[in-house]
Amino acid sequence: MSERVPDGEQGRAANDDLPLARAGKVARAAPAARPGFDRKTIALVYDFDGTLSPRPMQEYTFLPKIGEDAKSFWAESNRLAREHAADPLITYMHLMYKKAKAKGVRIDREDLVALGRGVDLFPGVTEWFEAIGEYVKIRAEAPGVALRHYLISSGLTEIIEGTAIYPHFHNVFASEYWFDAYDLPFPKRVITDTGKTQYLFRINKGVEDLRESINQHMPEESRPIPFANMIYFGDGDTDVPSMAVMRKNGGHSIAVYPPGKPKAKCVDLFKAARIDFFAPADYRRGSDLFRRTCLIIDRILADIRVQEEVWRIGREVARSR
Ligand SMILES: [Mg+2]
Repeated sequence: MSERVPDGEQGRAANDDLPLARAGKVARAAPAARPGFDRKTIALVYDFDGTLSPRPMQEYTFLPKIGEDAKSFWAESNRLAREHAADPLITYMHLMYKKAKAKGVRIDREDLVALGRGVDLFPGVTEWFEAIGEYVKIRAEAPGVALRHYLISSGLTEIIEGTAIYPHFHNVFASEYWFDAYDLPFPKRVITDTGKTQYLFRINKGVEDLRESINQHMPEESRPIPFANMIYFGDGDTDVPSMAVMRKNGGHSIAVYPPGKPKAKCVDLFKAARIDFFAPADYRRGSDLFRRTCLIIDRILADIRVQEEVWRIGREVARSR
């Protein structure tokens, strides 16, 4: 239930709100209008598979547990999806449990969370969140600037919950199962490539409670986290819709590739102007990725200062009428 936030948490500011995802409660509405300039939250939004972790998360523990070879599992899943014109994500979610059942392996929600502990992360990911937090704190030069990390993944909420980095996310939007509705676990929420963009808008509008509709009109100036304050991190074609939404709305995107491996996909994304930068997925302080992310953060912080000044002048002008 990682998309939820405790009641009464609305409007919490700054870095004190990191562990909300862990709290597993319900949700945040758009914050009420506050007296000061309040569009000072920066959101770093990550894809998971291939971006924070080298391989699809299911390959580390779930598939070995049911005795499946990753390559043949994905080949079968993709073939089935094609044959039946089925959604590939629903197909893989179904096939995983169908195979587990056939092998007589029972994997309930707790087991799935426990499997998350075996997921590998790229170098420096574990320390990244605090390091970037420190950078923002040093460079903010204004009170009230907050930093949040979000995850939007087609992978499984339950596995992500089991990873060591889960507590760093303000919110996690990922595919998820019902565990009690049917004999086999059944997809409760499936996050497709294009579906990911919905969650970008939820972050942008502050409508993170999934029970609330995202479709209601909200003027740009009322949106708590402007796209210009957001950076999206992804690794490939499945991130193109999200990168396109970011860039078209004034936001930022960075693509990563596995250190030491080909970067052709990133070059394509760069040439197509889907991304601001690309870099090896080395999240350690001082890496190209760290440095390039900090460059964009500097720009965001400068924009926030400019907008806050404009807001102050606007308020003075309004008062002196
Ligand atoms: Mg990916």
